[in-house]
Amino acid sequence: MSRSPSILEDLLVALPDLRPQIYFKSSLTALSHAMEDQVLAGVDQPVVIASFQRERFYRQEAHRYLRIADRTDQVYVLAAPETDFANRFDRYETIAFDATDALAKEWHLVVVGSHYAACLICRERQVSPAPEEASLHLPPDQSRRFEGIWTFERSVACKAAELLLAKVLLYRPELTDKVAAAQAVLLDNTQVNFSNVDPGPFAERLVTYIQAGQYKLLKAYRSIAAQEQRERLVNSITSAIRRSLNPDEIFKVAVQELGQTLQASRCLIYRCRDTDATVTLQHESLNHGAESLIGQRWNLADNPLFQFVAQHQEPIYVSHTQADVWLLREQEVVAPKEQVQRWAIAAWLMVPVVHQNRLLGMVEVHHCNNTAHDWHETNVGLIEAIANQIGVALIQAEAYANLEDLNQQLAALDRTRSNLIAITGHELRTPLSTIQVCLESLSTEPDMPEELRQVMLNAALTDAERMRKLIQDFLTLSQLESGRIQWHLEPLPLQECVDLAMSSLRSRQMNGALPEITAQVSPELPLIQADGEWVVEVLSKLLDNACKFTEPTGKVIIQAQPNGGKMLEVTISDTGRGIESNRLETVFDRFYQEEGALRRSAGGTGLGLAICRQIVVGLGGRIWAESAGKDRGSQFHLTLPISPPDLEEKPAKPNHAKGKPSKARR
Ligand code: ADP
Repeated sequence: MSRSPSILEDLLVALPDLRPQIYFKSSLTALSHAMEDQVLAGVDQPVVIASFQRERFYRQEAHRYLRIADRTDQVYVLAAPETDFANRFDRYETIAFDATDALAKEWHLVVVGSHYAACLICRERQVSPAPEEASLHLPPDQSRRFEGIWTFERSVACKAAELLLAKVLLYRPELTDKVAAAQAVLLDNTQVNFSNVDPGPFAERLVTYIQAGQYKLLKAYRSIAAQEQRERLVNSITSAIRRSLNPDEIFKVAVQELGQTLQASRCLIYRCRDTDATVTLQHESLNHGAESLIGQRWNLADNPLFQFVAQHQEPIYVSHTQADVWLLREQEVVAPKEQVQRWAIAAWLMVPVVHQNRLLGMVEVHHCNNTAHDWHETNVGLIEAIANQIGVALIQAEAYANLEDLNQQLAALDRTRSNLIAITGHELRTPLSTIQVCLESLSTEPDMPEELRQVMLNAALTDAERMRKLIQDFLTLSQLESGRIQWHLEPLPLQECVDLAMSSLRSRQMNGALPEITAQVSPELPLIQADGEWVVEVLSKLLDNACKFTEPTGKVIIQAQPNGGKMLEVTISDTGRGIESNRLETVFDRFYQEEGALRRSAGGTGLGLAICRQIVVGLGGRIWAESAGKDRGSQFHLTLPISPPDLEEKPAKPNHAKGKPSKARR
């Protein structure tokens, strides 16, 4: 009967010379199987006692014990029951020990025969894995460790058997006779000579284990090496991304690293959209003498592989490009033979660079050695990881460029705002000073002659009107620039807009002498699709200018004709003072006046053409000026969209009561 609950402890007390060792679980499995194989290959009928920690461990070996039971009737199997393991005899004795028994922490196998004896008596050590092991994420079984004795020494095996048989009797006292027979075998065999034992089966089993272990090790090394390579590659690309926001630099590093790692004939990285027909290649790495594609226009539109990847946004490869028809995810496509042959592509992989379902670029890998190439999933995964990094880099670079743009726009806006404040301040102060001086004179000099009084009043009124216009134009322009205008587009006859603009001009210039104005606008012209009020506003301003800068003896002509199929072009020409060629664009700037913004003499606000451009562009057209030079007249051209035929049924009239542009809705 055992003195302590542990068989190992009892054994060490009984045989104090024994030195326990540490065994990994896999070593115990190998030794146990080797011992069992030795029994199965032998000829004698040994006593075999096996103690499993749990029923489930025993289940994995049960078939072997059935075979062992064919050789000997002295087989005892102990385990902590989990389902139906129980105390019984079923071709051999099974002993269900209590789960709290120390046996549940031990692993024993004892074989004592006439030719052969061996024993394995071990206890599991509860050790938490070292941090470096934990980081390997090994299956928990692999790191289990046991402490104990493994030996062929017969005396030790007999002692271990004796201790285990005592345990058997504790749980199965009814086996007293059978156990006594086993104990007799132990005594009988103490003096046997083992020189005839064949160590073959034992050694073979161990060698098989060593081989399998080595194979597993190799596999693990390979996967660690692949992981390392992957990490190195991703790291170098990530650090390239950190170093630079320039996609070209990042592509350069990525393609070089990929080429070196994959050892493919050709690696390509390029930016593209799914709608691109071709792309000019700029980043490549070559191996094995492959021909370079740098500078080539690479066909995308007719390449079924590109189209497939762009559509599905997932990597795809063709292992054997020589086939006439390729099978891409069970979909048959015609191979781009010319491209394949011209560039000797034997196997082809494409991995998309995608961000939020938007195709940003492509990574291509070619093998050009005339043989099919099976793409390894880990390599495809690696390229996918790189493509992801490239996607991040591209988005980062895009965001940075946008930010730069925005910064510049903000700076420009800030400058404009300061200019505007200065100019507007001046524009408002000048007429205000005149008004103030006139009113002061009128109020302080009651004896002022009537004629002078009238002059003063007229000057004040003129400048008050100038201020009103300036403020109105300024408000109109800010509204247009803010994009808050609601355009009321409708099919309109241009001729009516011109008529309205001309009558508006005449009503404003009732007394002043105007140059001769001729309108050559055919009523047969197609209708325009525009907002009538705003068109009249533009035409009025251009006519105003033409008259303002032309002598009454000069001429102003309004013409209109189709421009291409979709636009009407209106031209307002005058024979007036003309515009210098370097001012043709500047005249559209806010507050531009030839005299200089800050020393205005003639009327006008300097905002008219800026307003015209905002309106015309808002209506979908263009406006520009032409002039042969100073004193050689000017032409202002503008285009407006022609109304689509199905909208032309009921032409609307420009909404201008009394021929005056209505400001009601602005
Ligand atoms: P405004 O006419 O109120 O000064 P505009 O923006 O309409 O402001 O015009 C800006 C400037 O463009 C004018 O001051 C003038 O110097 C020049 N300009 C406009 N139209 C003509 C024209 N038909 N002939 C010559 N110069 C013109």
